[in-house]
This record gives sequence, structure tokens and C-alpha cells, in this order.
Amino acid sequence: MSDLSLPSPATLATALSHPLVPTLRAAQPTLWRNPALAPTATALGDVGLGADDVAQASARLRRFAPYLALKFPATVAAGGLIESPVQAAPALQAALGPAGAPPLPGRLWLKLDSHLPVSGSIKARGGLYEVLHHAERLALDAGLLRQEDDYRVLDTPPLRALFAAHQIAVGSTGNLGLSIGLMGATLGFRVTVHMSADARQWKKDRLRAHGVTVVEHRADYGAAVAEGRRQAEADPRCHFIDDENSRHLFLGYAVAAERLAPQLAAAGVVVDAEHPLHVHLPCGVGGGPGGVAFGLKLAFGDAVHCWFAEPTRSPCMLLGMLTGLHEGVSVRDIGLDNVTAADGLAVARPSGFVGRALQRLIDGVYTVDDAQLFRLLALTEATTSLRLEPSALAGVAGMGWVAPTLSPTLAAGATHLAWATGGSMVPEDEMAAYLARGRALLDG
Ligand SMILES: *Cc1c(COP(=O)(O)O)cnc(C)c1O
Repeated sequence: MSDLSLPSPATLATALSHPLVPTLRAAQPTLWRNPALAPTATALGDVGLGADDVAQASARLRRFAPYLALKFPATVAAGGLIESPVQAAPALQAALGPAGAPPLPGRLWLKLDSHLPVSGSIKARGGLYEVLHHAERLALDAGLLRQEDDYRVLDTPPLRALFAAHQIAVGSTGNLGLSIGLMGATLGFRVTVHMSADARQWKKDRLRAHGVTVVEHRADYGAAVAEGRRQAEADPRCHFIDDENSRHLFLGYAVAAERLAPQLAAAGVVVDAEHPLHVHLPCGVGGGPGGVAFGLKLAFGDAVHCWFAEPTRSPCMLLGMLTGLHEGVSVRDIGLDNVTAADGLAVARPSGFVGRALQRLIDGVYTVDDAQLFRLLALTEATTSLRLEPSALAGVAGMGWVAPTLSPTLAAGATHLAWATGGSMVPEDEMAAYLARGRALLDG
């Protein structure tokens, strides 16, 4: 946060006089509808990136596909692309409403980024993409690669030696570090991951087993990022991956949307003005949900509605957009502690880049408390057999918030797609503990 200019106390106090702030301060689950929402055509220009940029990112991922298929057998079926399926979840939908009440109108689907190859979370999109982008630039500049080449050449000694002379650093609550560490180490880079205090032990163990240097910080995500940035600045051969500001990460996430459109079409899901698509995206610092939302707006225009889901104790994007202060406000400014079991979402200060880019493109943000995340975790497992990590359940709460706000016709025609952002790599014992906690809450 070295380059951050904070608002004056008077500006902050005025911004925090918003009528929703007491609800946020009390950590009460709430829905905020974005008053700045504008037609897609008007607001897309705010992002500073366009369809061309997403197309280039997509083409870059296709160039790497033969290499990824070589190194990660789980990607072979998809031709070396890192992609996940969609799945209808009618039984989960039926279980969402209060017992005895009529089911929520519309249809619930899940997007299973929980099962993405390599790192089992949405971070396998942005994190991998940025490492690949960096590796490609180094190799092209060194004259060791041409874009027309078969990228499996990256797995040969001259290229591996090039990457071994370079370093990658990142600060993370866990999943970003896992994605960047595994991809970077596979290419041959030296990687250092600065982990915040809330990062899970198994993620650190897994990285160390792959030769990644893990530095543990006693403070939260913001401090881990600051330390990664500081270390990288001192070394010109070190590339710092900036989760808060990186356009590369953002574009890596955005590619998801152009692949989702044919998936939905193949599944018979119609998306148009009468059949709106409501996409529910768990939000931490904002890059993942922001990049996906940007791609969705490019692909579906006004027919798609993007909602961000945040923990009640870490509603950083909600607070940043509501006040217009973005990275200038922290959840600590309203007395929240940024403690949640949704480790990917435990972020106190949002990305200012994402907040400004999407200020007029997202429909709103709602908050979910940890007890609800664990109930949804157990309900999802009971109705679909899918095992997701707590963060990934935040968007599953969204249909319950949004469906009742729609007209009966639009509600009936709507598809709700909850982005299940992570979970397939959680160790068995950890998952058993999550499930036990969720089942106890459902029974209680
Ligand atoms: C990182 C993460 C998110 C949110 O992405 P941001 O880019 O931090 O907003 C959501 N779910 C999981 C599981 C994550 O790891």
C-alpha cells in the first residue's frame, strides 16, 4: 500500500454516513443495489480494456495449450485449456428457500471453477495466465521462442535455464499463491509466495513440496502483498504479481466468459432480455470476479447481471463502491475485523482498479456470514455431492437475495449461475471438518 493516498478524516466521515453503513458495521447480511448501474454500452469504456485485449489473452492461452497438456495431464481432455463445466443444481435450489415455502423462481446452475485443473480454484485462470504471459515475454525477448512455435519447447533446457534466472513474487491469502507457485515452479522460475496469516497450512505445504519459497506473515493479506512488492522492487529480475492492480490477472479471468457462452448454449440455457443471466461471484480483492464480470458484459451485454458476494466481516468491495472511496477505505474503518473462514475473501481493502472499472457495470453486492457459508457448504454436498471450500459458497446465497427483487416474469425466466470458486483440492480431513460444521448448523 506504499503508493496509497488515504482520504482525509472529514472525507472518510462523510462517506461513512451512508445509511447502509450501520448494517455493515453490525456484520448483518445485506443486499446493496448499485445506484450507478448503467447500460453496458455506456459503462464498458470505464474499464480501459476492450474485446481485443480479451481476444489476445484467449489466443495466448491457446498458444500455451500444448505445453499445459504436456505438463498437466488433467488438461488433456480440454486440449490444454484450463476450463471447468457448468452443472444444473435443481435439488440445491429446492433446498435454498425456507422449509415449506415455494421454491425460488428461475433456475440455479453452478460454474465449477472448484474443479479447474492445476490449483482447484478460480485463481487457476488469472494466476496461471499472468505467469504464462510473463514467461512468453521473457522467452520472446531472449529470442528463444516465436509465437508460431509449438510451446512444448518451453520444457527444454535453454528455456528452463532462462526461467531459472528469474524470480516471481506474490502476496496471497492462499489460492493465488498456489496457482502462481505451481505454474511458476513448473516452468522453472524461482517463486516466492508471501502468505497472510489466514492461509491454510496445506496450501503452504503443497507449495513447499514443489520447491516454492513460502514466507509466512503474521498480518493479513494487505501486509503480505506489501512485503512481496517491496522484495520485488529490490530485484530487477523479479516479477511481482500485483493482485490489486494487475491487468494481466484481470484478462486471464475475463476469458472465462467467451467459453461460458457456448457451454450455456449447449446446455439449452437461453440468455436474452426475457431470460436474464444473474451471475453470482464471490469477491475478495476483486480481480477474479471483476475480470469475469467484464468478460460477461462483453459476451452478453445487458442480458447478464453480475452480483458480487462478500463475507459480512470483509465487505471491502461493497464499502469501496458505496462510498466511492475504493482502495481508500478499509473494512477496519467501520470497526470490522476482516476475520472469516472464507480465506480467499478475507480482504480488508478492495482493488481500486477493479472498483472504478466496474462501478457502473455490476448490479450490486450482498454479504453472507460464515454460518451461512457452512450451511450452504453442507447443503451443496448433500444435494450435489460437490465439495466446495467456504469462499465458493458465497455466491450460492445470491439467488435468495436477487430472485425476490425481480418481477414474476423475469424471475421465472432467469438463470442464476453461482460461481463455485474453489474446493476440489481441499484435503479430506479439512473437508470433513467443514462438512461437520455445516451439518451441525443445519441441524441446530
Ligand atoms: C481469490 C478467490 C476469490 C475472489 O477473487 P478475488 O480476485 O480475490 O476477488 C473467490 N473464491 C476463491 C476460492 C478465491 O480463492
